[in-house]
Amino acid sequence: MTEKFTPDEKKLVAVGENYKRILDRVRECAVKAGRGENDVRLMCVTKTVEPIYINRVLELGADLIGENRVQEYLGKRDSLKLESVERHLIGHLQTNKVKQIAGEVDMIESVSSLKLAKEISKVSQAKGIISDCLVEVNIGREESKSGIFAEELEELLYEVSLLEGIKIKGLMTIPPICESEAQVRRYFERMYGYFIDIRDKKIHNVDMEILSMGMSGDFEAAVAEGSNIVRVGSAIFGERKYF
Ligand SMILES: *Cc1c(COP(=O)(O)O)cnc(C)c1O
Repeated sequence: MTEKFTPDEKKLVAVGENYKRILDRVRECAVKAGRGENDVRLMCVTKTVEPIYINRVLELGADLIGENRVQEYLGKRDSLKLESVERHLIGHLQTNKVKQIAGEVDMIESVSSLKLAKEISKVSQAKGIISDCLVEVNIGREESKSGIFAEELEELLYEVSLLEGIKIKGLMTIPPICESEAQVRRYFERMYGYFIDIRDKKIHNVDMEILSMGMSGDFEAAVAEGSNIVRVGSAIFGERKYF
């Protein structure tokens, strides 16, 4: 038996209102942090979300979406109104999935090892493209998370800078779950410090333009500490039943 999916009208309205409210809030936070209201981009994180709700935010002008899983994204993208939206892969990427995703998204935010970077480089060269990527930093050194440790960052960047077909555009992080806003802000502050240090080193073929940090629960703190992409899922689309 197949279950037919019926959209929930109330939820459609709520998603639109949430999107507008969060966008306003992101702009306010950017201004409060001394930046322009369009200096921080709002990414709508669409993992587990049915296309009809994603299309709602796209109709309202959302210009950046993030998906976690290669299979899920490839499965639903034909149902999305994608004409003028940038798509980023933000979830953990296995090397054996690179072939399927390189060239199908505008950025891979989750480069977490040299091995993965080399595979992206190889596949991108074979496809005749350059893949824009962020390096994911495991700022809290958590075993449950992917991403490289901060002390390995510089060496990784120097090695990736020598590869063809891959271009590093900045950094991404998911901080540990924190007890207080002050605590999470310290993680974001440290990330911003690495971002600036590396930017000042002017590594050949490495651009430090993007600092992707902040999610539904902590995007305000992230913007205050220098983030320029916040990745917001549940505050727009509602709580997820799984991951
Ligand atoms: C799910 C996810 C988000 C969004 O999380 P919310 O708390 O729902 O806003 C952001 N970034 C990554 C990498 C995610 O996997």
